[in-house]
Amino acid sequence: MAARILSGKPIAEAIKAEVAEEVIRLQAQGVRPGLAVVRVGDDPASAVYVGSKVKTSEELGIKSEHIHLPATASHNEVIGIVRELNLRDDIDGILVQLPLPPQVDASAVLEAIDPRKDVDGFHPINVGRLSLGEKALAPCTPTGVIEILKRSDIPIAGKHAVIVGRSNIVGKPMAMLFLKENATVTICHSRTADLPSVTRQADILVAAIGRAGFIRGEHIREGATVVDVGINNVSDLDFAAELFAPEDMEKRLKAIENRGFTLVGDVNPREAAEKASSFTPVPGGVGLLTVAMLMKNTVEAAKMRREV
Ligand code: NDP
Repeated sequence: MAARILSGKPIAEAIKAEVAEEVIRLQAQGVRPGLAVVRVGDDPASAVYVGSKVKTSEELGIKSEHIHLPATASHNEVIGIVRELNLRDDIDGILVQLPLPPQVDASAVLEAIDPRKDVDGFHPINVGRLSLGEKALAPCTPTGVIEILKRSDIPIAGKHAVIVGRSNIVGKPMAMLFLKENATVTICHSRTADLPSVTRQADILVAAIGRAGFIRGEHIREGATVVDVGINNVSDLDFAAELFAPEDMEKRLKAIENRGFTLVGDVNPREAAEKASSFTPVPGGVGLLTVAMLMKNTVEAAKMRREV
């Protein structure tokens, strides 16, 4: 049977519609959630991510503010901006776009954010609360993965979830969220011995590695659900031909011709389609959920802080 494609679009749209409704409800009580996004320097990918966060906030009725500092901004300047935002009552969420330039200590900046406004869920207080199984603002990409699974009626409780990747942004919080949902959890990384034998035990396999097409048929148990968090650029035509079925190649070739690359996840989609019962596409999968979950966290932060 053909594998089911778990498209992120309808799920992200549904979450955004729910957030927009909640914003209307809050506005009726005189509360307008506000999100401040701080960007330092001119990294082109960061500019795209920030642009989409600001645009989506506005579409949903969330007040948004984009603070852009030059690449030469000092550590103290960035911390100063965060402290000002902490004090402002009209700002419910503060997001500092990573990466930061080398003179700015990213951990110190993230720790300077008021945990109640930490909509990225990276502050140690929120990381700790998530680990304790308490109510917390949790990182947007892994919470987006849980939403995709739940809203696609894929059972999690009692299932074996295997995560490849142990970053603080994706892999580790993903593990905590799966535990909260009563899955049995395994985390793999670059030092895991015989990775395919571990990943083949997964009912749900999450790839958050940062290497295009790394997860292949040999890593996937027949009938598993595969969630691809990776976002990588591929410009090599021969490599693209290994990743995509002939019917998908035309649009990929066009992308490479037009902009020099095509977006590819950490999973080989052609081989995943042969082994998995369902999998998320790239683009159009988990990536779309990240911004939707940021909006949800902003509204949650407003409700918790303002007690409405
Ligand atoms: P990191 O580079 O921080 O972490 C990558 C992880 O993969 C590390 O734990 C590393 O292990 C592990 N890894 C690397 N090589 C191997 C290997 N050969 N075998 C097993 N494990 C390996 O990446 P992120 O977690 O930040 O991001 C992962 C991917 O997800 C990237 O493609 C990124 O672009 C994407 N991403 C997508 C988002 C979205 O919105 N969809 C949001 C955030 C990230 P070790 O710890 O041992 O080095």
